[in-house]
Amino acid sequence: MPHYFDHAATTPMREAAKRIWLEHASALNPGGQYASGRKARSVLDSAREEIATLLGCDPIEVIFCASGTEADNLALQGLWRRSGGTIAASGIEHPAVLETVRGLEHQGAAVRWLPVSSKGEVHEFESTIQGVDLITCMWANNETGALQPVQQICDAAGDAPVHVDAVQAVGHVPVDFHALGATTLAASAHKFGGPRGLGILLAKRSPAPSPVLFGGGQERGIRPGTNDVAAAAATAAALKEAVAEMEAESQRLRSLQTRLLDVVASIENTQIHTPDHCLPGHVHASFLGAEADSLIMLLDSQGFEASTGSACSNGVNRASEVLLSMGVPVANARSAIRFSLGYTTTTADVEALIRALPDVVARARLAGMA
Ligand code: PLP
Repeated sequence: MPHYFDHAATTPMREAAKRIWLEHASALNPGGQYASGRKARSVLDSAREEIATLLGCDPIEVIFCASGTEADNLALQGLWRRSGGTIAASGIEHPAVLETVRGLEHQGAAVRWLPVSSKGEVHEFESTIQGVDLITCMWANNETGALQPVQQICDAAGDAPVHVDAVQAVGHVPVDFHALGATTLAASAHKFGGPRGLGILLAKRSPAPSPVLFGGGQERGIRPGTNDVAAAAATAAALKEAVAEMEAESQRLRSLQTRLLDVVASIENTQIHTPDHCLPGHVHASFLGAEADSLIMLLDSQGFEASTGSACSNGVNRASEVLLSMGVPVANARSAIRFSLGYTTTTADVEALIRALPDVVARARLAGMA
């Protein structure tokens, strides 16, 4: 079995989620008015209620869709459709948000970029959000794991709707939608042990995103289409387990993270990108003089699975936009890889990585930069 260090990309499905998934695999259309439709409906309703309780919102505010990417698109495109005008966004957003904002820019949106510190944290945002029509900020960065000041942004937003991409946060840190006061929030089941292909959009009753997809009116008309009942039920089961284990798991991962960070820091010429205020499972660093692709391939050949964490690279080693926004030089950004730990990561996995890493870095450095 390989040592898996890419939990922030996707985490294995939890056994509890698999069981529920199989149990409801034959569920039919929850919109059907007959007995099997009502049965499917009641499973879907229970999943919605469970998720609402776990995320601090009302069941009606839970919109099931197909991915975190779709949830971000439905929220941002839908909210911008209501008001038009100026959007405030940070340059460290995942492409699901960044490319959506850029797409809206082509449709006439004015965009203001929120300042980002060298630690990868949005900061000094107050003047940038003054008078804007829509604000978007992620809860935690997918590459560095840096936690963002989403509560402060929601508190300072005034009447402007706020979308929070919480795809990396849900199931890993406590999330309470009502306490946060955001307008919309995106989550994705496969980041906390649910199935891939199930996104969650939390959307306040008002202002609600205008529809960008049209059809049968399911999910308040914000995400029409026949629901995947089994995936929704499995997602609720995964989130329940992730939330129940959160405190203990966070402490366990934090100590593995500290151990790994210490070893990475002891390798000469490294630059650590994960700040102190971060998710417990991320270790993101540049090994200067080594190409990220070489590091990933050498690690893979020894049974360690890690990635750059930069979703837009798509197999091509381009410098991460997140790191460039933080002021990291291009050459350093091209030497960056992310180890992300999760609920299946053991002490033995981390110790094996620690034994292998110095030699892998030395060999990648010998190969040099392309
Ligand atoms: N937003 C963030 C912060 C992410 O990390 C990801 C996935 O990596 C997404 C959005 C997209 O989620 P999905 O893969 O479910 O489309």
